Amino acid sequence: MAATAEIRRLRGPRASVAADVPQAVWDETETASAGVGVCTRVMLLTGAECRFTCSMCDLWRHTLPTPTARGSLPAQIRHGLALSAADGQPPRWVKLYNSSNFFDSRSVPEEDLPAIAELVAPFERVVVENHPRLLGDTVLRFRDACRGRLEVAMGLETAEPKALASLNKQMTLDDFRSGCERLRGEGIDTRAFVLLGVPGIPPSEAVGWCLESVAFAIACGVRHVSIVPLRAGNGWVDQLLADGSLALPTAGDLEAVAAGSFALPRPAGRVVTTDLWDFDRLAGSCGGCRALRRERIALMNRAQAVASLPALSCGCLS
Ligand code: SF4
Repeated sequence: MAATAEIRRLRGPRASVAADVPQAVWDETETASAGVGVCTRVMLLTGAECRFTCSMCDLWRHTLPTPTARGSLPAQIRHGLALSAADGQPPRWVKLYNSSNFFDSRSVPEEDLPAIAELVAPFERVVVENHPRLLGDTVLRFRDACRGRLEVAMGLETAEPKALASLNKQMTLDDFRSGCERLRGEGIDTRAFVLLGVPGIPPSEAVGWCLESVAFAIACGVRHVSIVPLRAGNGWVDQLLADGSLALPTAGDLEAVAAGSFALPRPAGRVVTTDLWDFDRLAGSCGGCRALRRERIALMNRAQAVASLPALSCGCLS
């Protein structure tokens, strides 16, 4: 199992970040259900580093080593709200992602929650990220303060119990399941991040375990499962890549989980999407096929169904 001190020892330098403006703000179309997209304002906020130290996580690079100052996040959100809507279409949902836990007062001062809820009052859905073991009564107070529907995104990462334990996430599958149950019982939606390419799982089993993990999240009642391919660039991951015990997912692996997830039994209203942020950096595609294959996954994300691939002449998939 990865130990906190060793994971931290292998880290590179922290990025230089400003504490008064978000790191990034943009609008994107979120899939709400098959064929239905909702314009969503995404804000990557700057605050204190997460109290956990997962071996595969690189989010700490854009956080602060000190607690988030009171007033900083409302100021950043005001900044993020000032961005003009793309195509003049006002966003209806908002994602407040702080690379940490929204319901940890070191990362989000509790005194700021009423102001944050007031700022996001125009949005129909408010998505925040949080660890399943940090679901105290603050979540309920924020739910009550929000006018829109609250959704809590949590990293499941994997349903393979030994690999999950080895990530140093300090969470069991029971913690995740009971967190989902508690939130659902309180009228709060859930979202799960599932990792493709989990340290501790042999590369040949990565696709199969990713699909098992999507199925587990769906069984826990998660509204939206987001599949994310493992990234290089974190010291612990880079060490495993160098010694050959880990391999980054390929474009073909990502396509396989995107398509395979739609073969899983899924109650109506549940959404599964595959993250395309780093698709062009994945191995296994070329200039001749990359855009077509990326668009095929984007189409599956929108339609919530398997889409076929046009004939390719490049040989990447042969
Ligand atoms: S709980 Fe989430 S943010 Fe915190 S270290 Fe783990 S993956 Fe990163």
